Amino acid sequence: MNPGLKFVRQDILGLEPYKPSKEACSIKLDANESPYDIPQEVKERIWQRLKREKINFYYDPSCDELREELSKYVGVKPVQIFVGSGSDEIISDLLFAFAGPGRDVIIPVPAFSSYEIFATVSGANVIKVPLLLEKQNEAWRWDLDVEGIKKHFKKDEPQMMFLCYPNNPTGDYFSEEKILDLIESFNGIVAVDEAYFEFGRKTFANRLSKYPNVTVIRTFSKIFSMAGLRVGYAIADETIIEQLYKVKLPYNVTLFSQIAAVEILKNLDWVEALRDELVKSRDELKAELDRVPGIIVYPSNTNFFLCEFEKPRDLVYEKLLEKGILTRKLNGEKLKNVLRFCVGSPEQNNVLVDALRQILSE
Ligand SMILES: *Cc1c(COP(=O)(O)O)cnc(C)c1O
Repeated sequence: MNPGLKFVRQDILGLEPYKPSKEACSIKLDANESPYDIPQEVKERIWQRLKREKINFYYDPSCDELREELSKYVGVKPVQIFVGSGSDEIISDLLFAFAGPGRDVIIPVPAFSSYEIFATVSGANVIKVPLLLEKQNEAWRWDLDVEGIKKHFKKDEPQMMFLCYPNNPTGDYFSEEKILDLIESFNGIVAVDEAYFEFGRKTFANRLSKYPNVTVIRTFSKIFSMAGLRVGYAIADETIIEQLYKVKLPYNVTLFSQIAAVEILKNLDWVEALRDELVKSRDELKAELDRVPGIIVYPSNTNFFLCEFEKPRDLVYEKLLEKGILTRKLNGEKLKNVLRFCVGSPEQNNVLVDALRQILSE
């Protein structure tokens, strides 16, 4: 054994690294990415700009041009925006600034895995509160356990809480009244992760003056189809944004990523059309899946579905993979028999439905 290992923090030793599957596949539906790359003309404009840039110099550490464009897109002032290397960095920076040893981070689960990973890395005490699974109007819905969460609220100590809206991996919004109830009675920062904002367009970004303890998190990895470039942003009260500049890495967003994000924001028509297409495909896919016996499909306001199977999900996962379709297995309470997969192109969605129909009827 390497003697250095005895110096590793106990909480880090116990942590599982985030290791997405690298399984070969022809239809990749495991990471909620866009099925389409950005248009070639936009890429050309990015290359043209990059050609003129000097890369021997550091590039803008505060992403001024991008924040300017984002401020028009979001409808807040540039000083209320902070850009990070993916929204993963935003999550990590928020925890650096507001969590840490001796502080609680409350996470309703199942949730996006980065919250727990980076909260643990910050040294904070992670409190996971399971979501409720309730039948509402004939459909099963995952929602917040407000009483269960409030039990952990401490009036005199700073805490932090993550709410994913709509939630990954369950796919839909939590009740707005429940969220407002929590925000109003919480003594700390509430990070509202709106990675899938564009799909359902509900947001807390326009209510920051009323709820100054809210920080909204957004990303270019989903509808903007730029997961490979790692760009995410926070929207918050200026005083919160200022703290993020203190903890971020010095030149956190590369020249390439800043320019590409600016250019895609100048092509919102393309983004809008993609959004409409994916929402339409998603709703068609849901209708198809609802007709397949042996599967429960939870409602979605994102570009992915969480599905529960009558057959063992590891079997369903493997059989899909044999057909070249990569989906996501998730771990945790209540997720033992589920898979998550995102909406692909219409052709890919058809292949998926046929494959599931066949596997579940065998
Ligand atoms: C995909 C996703 C993100 C995006 O992370 P990036 O680091 O910006 O790629 C953030 N939060 C949730 C809930 C997501 O599903």
